[in-house]
Amino acid sequence: MSAVIENSPRTLSESGEFRFSCGRELACFNKCCRDVNIYLTPIDIALMRRALGISSGELLKTHVIPLFPKAIGHPVMLLKMRKSDKSCPFTTDNGCRIYNARPWSCRSFPLEPADGEGFSIVKRDFCLGFDGEHVQKVSDWRDGQDMKLHEAVNNIWSSVTQHPAVDRVNLLDGPGRDVFFIGSYNPDEFRSMIFNSGFLNHFSVDEETLRRVREDDIELIGFGVKWMRTVLFGENMLARR
Ligand code: SF4
Ligand code: SF4
Repeated sequence: MSAVIENSPRTLSESGEFRFSCGRELACFNKCCRDVNIYLTPIDIALMRRALGISSGELLKTHVIPLFPKAIGHPVMLLKMRKSDKSCPFTTDNGCRIYNARPWSCRSFPLEPADGEGFSIVKRDFCLGFDGEHVQKVSDWRDGQDMKLHEAVNNIWSSVTQHPAVDRVNLLDGPGRDVFFIGSYNPDEFRSMIFNSGFLNHFSVDEETLRRVREDDIELIGFGVKWMRTVLFGENMLARR
């Protein structure tokens, strides 16, 4: 008989183990993709719009509810559920239509970062994934969900959202909001602004950086972070002309 690891509220490290398995053979298949709050980060939006073959502007217009919570201090993007049954618009009978580009929070479930360090387990009453016998390490689960790129990019972005001077800048209204919005959530518009407006008259950017920003969405997000920190917080991360 295999050992049963009880999933308790304890905090797990990367080497910790938990009991969970998910699959389309379970009666709960797709239930977790309904009536759920999924907040999108810059890399989520960049990958999702590519998978859907639409621009980031279209993604924002069609599938996102922008929220401006004072408690958080910057705009957040909530994935819009279908009106009819509150299911995610990307759910199909076969599962997620954008599985390889699904957002970080879809990858993370049933783990979430704990306060401080480690991970805690999120339980949902309808989820049968906890009823099986399969036990795995946190690190193996996370590797299987391919979360590292998302987390590396989110970490870079957090240098804006958790900047020491963030409380002194209004990111919820006016020009601060506009800068944060385009630099974080609208990569196609931001790229167009860099190459098709007077942006390069104001900032000196070398050719190699421009090439990478033009071709690579992750480079664009990193460049956006430097631009936001320069414009919003007065750092010298981009050289002004
Ligand atoms: S994006 Fe995919 S995995 Fe996430 S809730 Fe929607 S259908 Fe489910
Ligand atoms: S086991 Fe949980 S995560 Fe997997 S499909 Fe069922 S409800 Fe969703």
